[in-house]
Amino acid sequence: MEKQARHRPHREYPDARRLVFDPDIETCPICGQTLKARRNWHSRKTIQTLNGPLFVAGKTKECVTSTCRNYQKRYYAGRVWLYSLPGSTYGLDVLAWIGWQHEHEHRQLVEIQRMLNQRGIAINERNVGKLYRQFLALLSATSENVCESLANTAQEYGGLIWAMDALQPEGPSGLLYVLYEVLSGKPVAALQCEHASEAELVEWLRPFSALELPVLATLSDGEHTVIATLKTSWPQAPHQRCQVHFLNNLADEVLDYDDELRKNMRQDLGGLPKAPQRPAEQTEPPF
Ligand SMILES: [Zn+2]
Repeated sequence: MEKQARHRPHREYPDARRLVFDPDIETCPICGQTLKARRNWHSRKTIQTLNGPLFVAGKTKECVTSTCRNYQKRYYAGRVWLYSLPGSTYGLDVLAWIGWQHEHEHRQLVEIQRMLNQRGIAINERNVGKLYRQFLALLSATSENVCESLANTAQEYGGLIWAMDALQPEGPSGLLYVLYEVLSGKPVAALQCEHASEAELVEWLRPFSALELPVLATLSDGEHTVIATLKTSWPQAPHQRCQVHFLNNLADEVLDYDDELRKNMRQDLGGLPKAPQRPAEQTEPPF
């Protein structure tokens, strides 16, 4: 059997689908002024998902009001963490799938590894175990560390902004509900189940809604149960249907065509020789 390298192998996926997210909020929560886009992205990586490789990136904005307490404070696109955890090169759907196969289908990790390999996902058994443990940590995330970091965020920004989304990983692995905090840009907790009722979701969020920290707003896309849950859990906080989510939902439809077009163009044009460089004095203006 071929020996697996211990270091992370370098993988290239030129045909990966691309998702680039804008920050979740557009105005500074402290001074209320419009945030300015920064050129740097806070996250950019290609991950392996059950549906093939995916390039995911998050843009950054900052407060540029010099009199604001949070001048130059950066804001992130938390939605990238719905696709993959910080530091991971695997999709959250892969983690959810491993969790489901191990817990509900009672498969051994080595068997799960084989199944993932058959689906075209390059992974060794050690990493299947690692992803499973990461997933369990996300499912039981009410440790002191998490609470302390939330308290720090609330102190820094004057409150928290909670966002929640329901993902449907491929196959019979139920839904994955993910809670993240927008201002710190961190995934906080996840719940894996078949369709959850509002009461079940409110119960899941209770450790967080019981925290005595100010909440500035809640964000989600248009899913009815998710909106109702956020409104019940944090009745004082205004709920916003996230513009970013809404636009991304629309873009999903277009992306397939866009990918197809890019692939075809690469095939059509990839074989052409490089355009010869002309001496500078012969260069003509474009019009
Ligand atoms: Zn500001």
